[in-house]
Amino acid sequence: MKKTVTTLADGRELIYYDSADDTVRDAVDPRPLDAVSTSSEIRRDPLLGDSVAIASHRQGRTYHPPADECPLCPSREGRHSEIPDTGYDVVVFENRFPSLAGDSGRCEVVCFTSDHDVSFAGLTEEQAGLVLEAWTDRTADLAELPQVAQVFCFENRGAEIGVTLGHPHGQIYGYPFVTPRTEQMFRSMDSHRAETGRNLFDDVVARELAGGERVVLEGEHWVAFVPYAAHWPYEVHLHPRRRVPDLRELDEAARTEFPQIYLELLRRFDRIFGPGEPPTPYISAWHQAPFRAPGREEFALHLELFTIRRTPGKLKFLAGSESGMNVFINDVPPEAAAQRLREVASE
Ligand SMILES: [Zn+2]
Repeated sequence: MKKTVTTLADGRELIYYDSADDTVRDAVDPRPLDAVSTSSEIRRDPLLGDSVAIASHRQGRTYHPPADECPLCPSREGRHSEIPDTGYDVVVFENRFPSLAGDSGRCEVVCFTSDHDVSFAGLTEEQAGLVLEAWTDRTADLAELPQVAQVFCFENRGAEIGVTLGHPHGQIYGYPFVTPRTEQMFRSMDSHRAETGRNLFDDVVARELAGGERVVLEGEHWVAFVPYAAHWPYEVHLHPRRRVPDLRELDEAARTEFPQIYLELLRRFDRIFGPGEPPTPYISAWHQAPFRAPGREEFALHLELFTIRRTPGKLKFLAGSESGMNVFINDVPPEAAAQRLREVASE
C-alpha cells in the first residue's frame, strides 16, 4: 500500500491510498476555492448530559448532484472534482461541509473506489482490504490529534438513510469527546467486570456462539451474529475472535480474512428482501475504544451493520417511542433475522 498526502486548493488535506507501491499522485487542484469557513459548535444538553453539534454551514452542502457533476468521481478534462487526479484506488479528504472541525474534531470523507456505479458489496476483496487499511491508517493519524478523543468510521448507504451523494463512500468522524453510546458500553463493561470478574464482550460473543441460533456466519478470525436484543429489523454485529480495542491492533490474519467476511455480509444484506427489491439501505458502523479512556484495553472493536428497512417498501421510522423515549420496538425477532441472513448465503 502506498500513501500520498496532499492538499486541496482551500488547504484541506487529501490522502491517496494506492495498492501499487509505485503509484505517483502529483495532480494539483486548480479550483478557485475559498477557504473553508465552518461555524460548527458543540453544545451540551443540560438535561440529558449529551452533546449536539450545531453546524449551520451544512445547509449549503451538495445535495443529490447529477452523476456527471459528482464531486467524488476523479477529475477529468474540463471538470474538476474533489479529487484532483484522473483516477484513484481509495482516497480520503477533509469534508468541505464538516459537522465537526477545528477544536471540535474532524470530519473526513472516504471514497471506496473511483467507480461511481458500484456499491461496497461490489468491490473486490483487494479493494475492500485497501479500504480497511485506509480506515486503520486514519484511526492511527487521528489518534495523534489532541482534539480527537474517539474515531468513528462509518458508511451510510442508500437515499433512505439520507445519503446525498450516490458515489460509494463513507465517512470518518473524529469526535472531541467520548460518544454517549460508547460511554454506555463502558458503564456496562465496568459493571459486568465488577459483578463477574469477566469481560462483557467476551461473554456476549461466547454466549452467541454457544447458542448459535443468532449466528449469521463464522470465519476463522471473525464471527457475525444478530444480537439478542437487536434494535433494528436486520442488525448484525461483526467481531474479531481475538478481542482488540481498535483497528490498529487487528493482526494480519484478521485483516486478511476481513474483506471476505464483510463482503459476504453486505451481499446477504442486499438479498434479504428478495430479487427485484432495490439495494438494501444500511448503516455500517465501526465501534472503537476512545484513545485516552481508562480501561480502553477492555473494549472490543466491532462493526455494527443494520438496515432501517423492515419489509419490502417499508422503512422502520424512529417514531414516538424511539425518538421520544429511546425505547426501540423491533418487529423482526432477532432469531428470524439471523435465519434469513443464513438462508441468503451466496454459497
Ligand atoms: Zn461519482
